Amino acid sequence: ANRPSSLKEIFHNTVQNDCYKEALFLNGIAMTYDELDRKSTKLAASLQKKYGVEKEDRLVCLIGNNLEFPLVAIACIKIGAVMIPVNTKLTSSEIAYIIGHSKPKLIIADNELVPVVEECNKKNKHVIPYTKVIIQTGSNPPTDTIASLLTEKYDLQEVEIDETDPVYILYTSGTTGRPKGAVLSHVNVVHSLMHYQRIFQTTNAMRTMIAVPLFHVTGLVAQFLHMIYIGGSSVILKRYNNDEYIKQSYDLKVDLQFNVPTIFIMMATSPLLKERSFDFVKRVAYGGSPIYEQTLQRLQEIFPNATFHNAYGATETTSPTALMPLHYPLTKVAAVGLPVDTAEVKVVDASGKEAGINEVGELWIKGPMVIGSYWDNPAANESSFVDGYWRSGDIAKIDEDGFIYILDRMKDMINRGGEKIFSIEVENVLKSHPEVKEAAVIAIPDDIFGEKVKAVIVSDRLQASNQDTIRSYCARHLAKFKIPEVYEFVEELPKTASGKILKHQLRV
Ligand code: ATP
Repeated sequence: ANRPSSLKEIFHNTVQNDCYKEALFLNGIAMTYDELDRKSTKLAASLQKKYGVEKEDRLVCLIGNNLEFPLVAIACIKIGAVMIPVNTKLTSSEIAYIIGHSKPKLIIADNELVPVVEECNKKNKHVIPYTKVIIQTGSNPPTDTIASLLTEKYDLQEVEIDETDPVYILYTSGTTGRPKGAVLSHVNVVHSLMHYQRIFQTTNAMRTMIAVPLFHVTGLVAQFLHMIYIGGSSVILKRYNNDEYIKQSYDLKVDLQFNVPTIFIMMATSPLLKERSFDFVKRVAYGGSPIYEQTLQRLQEIFPNATFHNAYGATETTSPTALMPLHYPLTKVAAVGLPVDTAEVKVVDASGKEAGINEVGELWIKGPMVIGSYWDNPAANESSFVDGYWRSGDIAKIDEDGFIYILDRMKDMINRGGEKIFSIEVENVLKSHPEVKEAAVIAIPDDIFGEKVKAVIVSDRLQASNQDTIRSYCARHLAKFKIPEVYEFVEELPKTASGKILKHQLRV
């Protein structure tokens, strides 16, 4: 079929077809596609003419779930700039690394993050002289604000976009402890959007609720850009809050509910659910981490007329690799879904051979929605891609009907409510404390987040009563969600003969 070649073309088509429909709802404000188009064009022209942003220039964006996010995102698409949405919860040293590594032309930050960016700039002083400007998204400006740029009178210069041009760099945690920048091209995203539309049968009458951050792939691609593609509406929550989630879902008749399981677990406890019927909800999708069976059962009670879809994917696969189809036999309920139709998947066993049906191994994924590479990272590119396949680090099996089951993972990672934390990053911080001789970080179960971070520490002087010292040390170097919540002090760590820590022994 005639597949659009870029997000620019997709946005243009939707503005043509659905110009007076609401693209966004946020804080009681609605914005139509027409308005989003006009405003983003002004912003795009200012970025070009006032700041000299050219095609393929990178823009680091530290923007939460605010109206500025969609404006900047669409402006970038119009001028071919590469948006780098960064997790706003990171510490200044974590953000400084990403800025230093991605070398952006410009940084766009929310008001409250301006001090963080200034600290980053100090840290990076001699490394990136080209980071010149901070645009505040609020009032009280030391420089321009998004609002002030919308009043400038520049004309947009048209830019040609090729389907292989990069459109986003999304930093994910890495096995070496340093974040890796997944480079998403237009064609990666276009495929991903087509899969969502086709499997979920979404239409321009639909609305989704974005309660997850817009800077991660689920909020950005599976929800916001998905709605842009079909001409639907995104209801954006600034911060997750049970009552707001339920009130707005009900009042605005949000019929596509797409979340990490943690949000559904929290939402399902709200007393507000009793007074309202959610019989208008058509699709419920969940992904990013495994869902508990009882959560799924509860969701089926809350949303009696919806179809339910597990969605498995990763940043590197531009979101969906496997989706549960509209209709599937109950015997398949434990699966994460069938591979999307352009995906090639295989399970590879420990000896490097392709596993047979129902045999267990690492899931490898190939296809037009899989990224080509990580930004400026030869080592990760070498180890993560083999013959065009991306190695997921997830342990899986594929059954006789092609359904994929995620059973475990190889990557030493903690999945805290969909937010991924690589153990090595936390271990490096712990080990940098002068009183810590050795440290191992593992996941332990949590009722709401699925998993949480536990630190096992060897120290001559520190013991359980000193855990606050370690906690505040971690707080200086790590984003809050990565700080260990549970500490154990031991004499020594269990190890193999070659000195490798036996983490499974710590987990029992
Ligand atoms: P987001 O960053 O928006 O949370 P994401 O979870 O798709 O999106 P990543 O953060 O890159 O992307 O994490 C990918 C990993 O998350 C997978 O390799 C897998 O370990 C885990 N994961 C994703 N979806 C599922 C799922 N449906 N069931 C179980 N695990 C999942």
